[in-house]
Amino acid sequence: MRRLFSGIQPSGELHIGNYLGAIRNWVKMLTDYDSIFCIVDYHAITASYETEIMQERIVNAAAECIACGLDPDKCTIFVQSHVPEHTELAWIFNTVTPMGDLRRMTQFKEKSEQHKQNVNVGLFDYPVLQAADILLYKAEAVPVGEDQVQHIEFSRRVARAFNSRYGETFPEPFHITPRIGRIMGLDGKSKMSKSLKNHISLSDSEETIKKKLATAVTDVNRKRRNDPGNPDICNIFTLHKLLSKNSEIEYVNVECRRAGIGCIECKMMLAANMNAELEPIRAKARDLKEHPQQVWEVLEAGRQRCKPIAAETIREVKTRMGLL
Ligand code: SF4
Repeated sequence: MRRLFSGIQPSGELHIGNYLGAIRNWVKMLTDYDSIFCIVDYHAITASYETEIMQERIVNAAAECIACGLDPDKCTIFVQSHVPEHTELAWIFNTVTPMGDLRRMTQFKEKSEQHKQNVNVGLFDYPVLQAADILLYKAEAVPVGEDQVQHIEFSRRVARAFNSRYGETFPEPFHITPRIGRIMGLDGKSKMSKSLKNHISLSDSEETIKKKLATAVTDVNRKRRNDPGNPDICNIFTLHKLLSKNSEIEYVNVECRRAGIGCIECKMMLAANMNAELEPIRAKARDLKEHPQQVWEVLEAGRQRCKPIAAETIREVKTRMGLL
């Protein structure tokens, strides 16, 4: 079975964009790949954070991933910093990575703009650690959103550079990107993100979801109830396509264009479908968060599975490099 690797930030609470754009697709691939999912705490510390709540953030991210369907009996889930070989391989990869390649990374440019007070070397080097995360397990398939494709192409270049300098060692990973495009935030302008506060959390209550959707930006050209709208440029319609029945999607598609449905009615229809999808996830995540020991056991089992794979890769790499 080919191996799949993906990482998720322990951001404290996952949002509907993480679920619809990533985790829901990961679940569908569990039977096709040997799947490894990593809670990437070493990536998370490239942004400012509160040390006191990092453990809670890790447990919450793992609990929500499991609740979304990442069944620990069908995949491996672990914490990045629990397997120190990730940073060891990242250092080695630093030595085959041209600075110019990192300077071109769009995410670095965007994050440097967003966090002007904390533009650290870790943020600059983030794609190298990401390449190490993937290649440490010789993973080939990497499911990512469109914004991460550049980083996977970078990982391919790193694998190629290492192989050409030290001999064939790593496969060149490929990205799997769902064809749903970007899930925008409630502001309709930027990708959904917790840091931009334009998100709906998986743990949000039914009432909170209704309130958040009620304020969400729709087709900005539709000023009044009687104006026809254009669902093709409306983020609410994008979410309908991911959460509603075909008959409802068709209804909104037709009625919006002839002003047969108002935005509030359309949004409340979406809220009901979103809540129906999230309710079992919320319940399972709540239960796991109340029993964090169960989550730590899953993460420890993941570490025990990953550690020997990582150690073997490092042994092979160091041997090829003349370091062993
Ligand atoms: Fe968007 Fe629905 Fe309003 Fe149309 S009716 S503009 S799809 S919210």
